[in-house]
This record gives sequence, C-alpha cells and structure tokens, in this order.
Amino acid sequence: MTAYPYEVHDYDVIVVGAGGAGLRATLGMAEQGLRTACVTKVFPTRSHTVAAQGGIAASLANMGPDNWQWHMYDTVKGSDWLGDTDAMEYLAREAPKAVYELEHYGVPFSRTEEGKIYQRPFGGHTTEFGEGPPVQRTCAAADRTGHAILHTLYGQSLKEKAEFYVEYFALDLIITDGACTGVVCWKLDDGTIHVFNAKMVVLATGGYGRAYFSATSAHTCTGDGGGMVARAGLPLQDMEFVQFHPTGIYGSGCLITEGARGEGGYLTNSEGERFMERYAPHYKDLAPRDYVSRCMTMEIREGRGVGPNKDHIHLHLNHLPKESLELRLPGITESARIFAGVDLHKEPIPVLPTVHYNMGGVPTNYWGEVLNPTAENPDAVFPGLMAVGEAGCASVHGANRLGSNSLIDLVVFGRAAAIRAGQVVDKNAPVPATNVAQVEKALDRFDALRNANGSISTADLRLEMQRTMQRDAAVFRTDKTLAEGEVEMTKIAAKMADLKVTDRSLVWNSDLMETLELANLMPNALATIYGAHARTESRGAHAHEDYPARDDANWRKHTLAWVDGNQVTLGYRAVHLDPLTTEADGGISLKKIAPAERKF
Ligand SMILES: Cc1cc2nc3c(=O)[nH]c(=O)nc-3n(C[C@H](O)[C@H](O)[C@H](O)COP(=O)(O)OP(=O)(O)OC[C@H]3O[C@@H](n4cnc5c(N)ncnc54)[C@H](O)[C@@H]3O)c2cc1C
Repeated sequence: MTAYPYEVHDYDVIVVGAGGAGLRATLGMAEQGLRTACVTKVFPTRSHTVAAQGGIAASLANMGPDNWQWHMYDTVKGSDWLGDTDAMEYLAREAPKAVYELEHYGVPFSRTEEGKIYQRPFGGHTTEFGEGPPVQRTCAAADRTGHAILHTLYGQSLKEKAEFYVEYFALDLIITDGACTGVVCWKLDDGTIHVFNAKMVVLATGGYGRAYFSATSAHTCTGDGGGMVARAGLPLQDMEFVQFHPTGIYGSGCLITEGARGEGGYLTNSEGERFMERYAPHYKDLAPRDYVSRCMTMEIREGRGVGPNKDHIHLHLNHLPKESLELRLPGITESARIFAGVDLHKEPIPVLPTVHYNMGGVPTNYWGEVLNPTAENPDAVFPGLMAVGEAGCASVHGANRLGSNSLIDLVVFGRAAAIRAGQVVDKNAPVPATNVAQVEKALDRFDALRNANGSISTADLRLEMQRTMQRDAAVFRTDKTLAEGEVEMTKIAAKMADLKVTDRSLVWNSDLMETLELANLMPNALATIYGAHARTESRGAHAHEDYPARDDANWRKHTLAWVDGNQVTLGYRAVHLDPLTTEADGGISLKKIAPAERKF
C-alpha cells in the first residue's frame, strides 16, 4: 500500500499538455461548457510549440490560386500513401476554418499589402495536384508562428475559465473496466500527489525527439503520453517514421525553418553546387523533408560535404535582401548568430539533418479518440481517452509530414476532439470515483523509481539510448544496423531496473523527473526500432537501404507496437482508403490520390 497521501480533483475533462494541441483542445472543451482542467509539466507558453517558426498550412488562397483538394493531395503524397484518407481530408478541409478561428482569437499573423494573412511557400506544397508550381500556403507570423499561436490560445483558454494545473507531472493513466477514468500527477514544486478523475482524458504531451542524440525539439519532448499509453497496455502506431529536418544547425541541432528555403534560401555542397536541382528538378530545395535529408546525406557520403571534416552542408540566405530577412526571418538571423556564429547576411549557415518530428504516436480516429485495435475491429475506440497533436497519430502524416502541417494538425484535431467530447461526454453524469487500486499501482512505480538504488545514472542510461537510436535508426537504415539496434535497445531498456536516483526528495527533484521521462522515452524508442526492423520496404522517412522500393502490396499498413518492459509485440492495422466525401458530393477524385511513385 502506498504511503503517499493524495488530493482528489473531479472534472468532466482533463487535458494533459498545454502545447498548441492541448490548449486548442482545452479552449474548445471549455467553450462546450465542459468543466475542463489542463495539467502541464511546464508553463503553457514554454511548451515546444512556442519554438515553431515557419508557419501553419491552410489553403486560404491569399497569394494565388489554392484549394483544399490540392492541399489534401500534397498531404497524401507527402505521407507516401500511408496516411488515413478520411483524416487527411478532414485536415485539409477544416484547415482554413481553423486558421480563421485563430485569427479571430487574436493571432498576430504577418500581413500582405491588402491586409490578408501572409502565406509563404513550404516543401511539398504545390498546385494542380502536384503538376503546377509551388503554392504559398503556409500562414506565418514572421518566423515566430508557434509563439504567436500559443500565447493567443493560452489567453483565450483563461478567458473561457479553463483551469490550469501548472508544473504538475502526469505519472500514469487510471484505467477502470476498460476505460480511462483519470490520471495521477506529481506536483513538482511542493511534492504533493494529485488524482484527477474525469470522464475524458486528452493526451497532448507532444513528441519524443529526445530519444535521439541530436534533435531540434525541447528537452521536455520525452513522449510521456506514449509511455503512459504503453503502460496501460495500449499500442503505439507507426513509430518507425521519424522525421529528420534538413536544416538543423551543425553542432547544436537548433532549427533553421524550412521557411528560410521558402523565402529563397538554397543548399550547396563543397563544390558550391546547388545539388537539389539535380535530385529534384521540379521541387528543387523545396522537395519534402525526408527527400532533402536523404539527398544531403548522400552528398556527404560521396565526399561533397563542407567543412574540415566534410560532414555537413551549407544553407545560403546571404543573397536575400536584408529587409526581407529582417521582416520575414528575424528569429533565425539571431539563431544563426548565437548557435553557429554566422552573420547570415554575409555567410552560409552550416546545417545537417536533425531529428525533428515523430509521425507515429497514439493511434486515433479523426475525432482524436484513442483506438484499441482488435482483430475483429481495427478501429475500436478505447473509451475515455483521446490523443491530439504530436503525441497522437490520426494519421495525417503517414510516413512523412509536410512542413507546416503539424501546427494545422494541432488546431484542427484539438478542435475536433472538443467537438467530439461535446457529443460523447455527459455533463450530468457523475465523475468516475477514484480507482484506489490503480492509483496505488501508479504510486508504487513512482516510489520504486524515486528509491532506485542500482548502479547506472539516469543521464548515462539516457545517453546510451540516444546514441544507439542516432546510430542505428538514422536517415538511412539497413538490416544490420536495425538488428544491432534492436538487440542494443532491448539491453538498454532492461537496465531501467539498475538505475540509480541520487535525490530522494519530492520537491523540485529534477533527477526523479528526468528518470520518469527516461521511463517514458524507453517504450517510444523500442517501438521505433522494432517497427523499423520489421518494415522491409522504404517509405517516407523510413529509408531502408536493403529494401529501397516502396512495397504497397505488403506494407501499405500501419504498424502497431505493444511495449511491455523491454518486450515489444508488433501487429498491423489497415490504412483507411476511403475519403469522407465521394467525388459526386464534391470530394476528391480517387484517381487523383491513387498510389504513385513520389517524384520531385
Ligand atoms: C524547433 C521546431 C520548429 C517547428 N516549426 C514548425 C512549423 O513552423 N510548422 C509546423 O507545422 N510545425 C513545426 N514544428 C512541429 C510542431 O511545432 C510540433 O509538432 C508541435 O508544436 C507539437 O505540439 P503539441 O501541442 O503536440 O506538443 P508540445 O508543444 O510539445 O507540448 C507538449 C505539452 O505536454 C506537456 N507534457 C508533456 N508531458 C507531460 C507530463 N508527463 N505531464 C504533464 N504535462 C506534460 C508539456 O508541458 C507541454 O505543455 C516545429 C517543431 C520544432 C521542434
């Protein structure tokens, strides 16, 4: 029995996470009249969404012709035909509405001469179903779009009287009779334990970039939602698809937005060649991220990298007018100076593909409801639980996400989850009672980690994991690296039992918090490498050198991974091929989105 006393809170809805997805869901739930609380381990406006630079995709057609069908086509092709068609249609159709809502909530978008929302080109976004020129679809607030969105949504959530529990760390889900009925939290600043009972729990905990050594994401991106879901016996989906962003600053991994290439920046190798023109004659530097990252890696491998070790690439912005850099890209001008010591008005920026985004996550339908797939029903909903944002997998990004399609995913599906909760959560029903046995189970795990007295420190074990993932589940993968990585990661995960936590206190114990985060990163990392080893094809971000072709006959399916300790069980789920609307009803023509080779 646990020696930890706890305080109990009852709500209609608990949202875990206050990034763009969590705040959009919180705001929407509160607008629906649901008693809503948002629990977050960092102050809301410090969530990783704040770092999003380039912008948010929606076919507003402010800068030239555009429509939702072209956006949907680009998303389908970008996903390398692994995304769920219904979810991708929902995303593209709802995107303009979601962006105008943001505008009305007060997001300070950059403007065109006529006062419309400014939109810039981004990789993989085109016109005429990929046949036409690039489109300016990415709505931007200079290069601080995430910052603008996050601050606006936080203000609006407060206005709607949503309640915030800031610096509360969610430990585990409470599962009662096959449904989620709440979450157990540790309050970081005074060490108290809090049990939140709710009719609906929404996971909006972000990605797990920190499973890798070099990532653009914040140190808080530790896949806590995925960890909690795995411990609840539910699967993770498509985890082998990890996006490497082409332009992380060499050394620090800090991001230079794709908007830099959208505004006219280009990449060169050691011969000064704009090599993307050779690989992607049509899309050039604005080919999708997975492809640009692979081309850069090939240039480096073939000895045409820049720098003394020929191990990176140059990104040029020095030909662009000073005024446009100051107006459109002020943030990265500063990042280049601080993190690369480069004045980008004069010199190129040294860059390297860096882990940036997790396409995989907790499987959901396009309402954000978490799935518990069974053989009889691959789309069975797990009651009481939703997942949105980078933590979830709806799946709109499939095997590869297009730039600026994540911010739109956050707000479209955060909003969809709220609409759905308005339908399925009964305001008059009683809040589920505290499930004491489940709370104790969560606290026993917490207590065991707090008192862990083995021989390896959290920091050392984390580094072993990060280096293994970076080496063995990289931009290019082979049977050999993946098999070695699988064995290595299984051993590393087993060492969780031999951890040593030195600080035993409950107040601001960062040693314990990082240990809990490591315990969450582990299942995410395991699912990634096992899923990757099993997938004997190349698709989107999963570039398997021993199987260079996409294999639709055998592999156009979602990977499911159940992780229990260091054991991984894989299964598969069919990709949704049907759109929401038929062509006769104004939907997209199925011929347009039939699988084809991705050419750039
Ligand atoms: C540098 C950078 C730039 C980017 N630029 C763009 C861009 O221009 N356009 C675009 O579309 N995408 C961009 N992306 C991707 C996009 O920003 C992210 O995918 C997105 O912001 C994720 O939002 P989220 O709400 O899912 O999670 P996050 O913003 O990561 O928020 C996660 C939240 O969960 C909370 N949390 C996590 N674990 C716990 C726990 N255990 N207990 C309590 N709370 C918890 C955190 O406190 C936080 O509030 C960028 C990403 C990076 C890293």
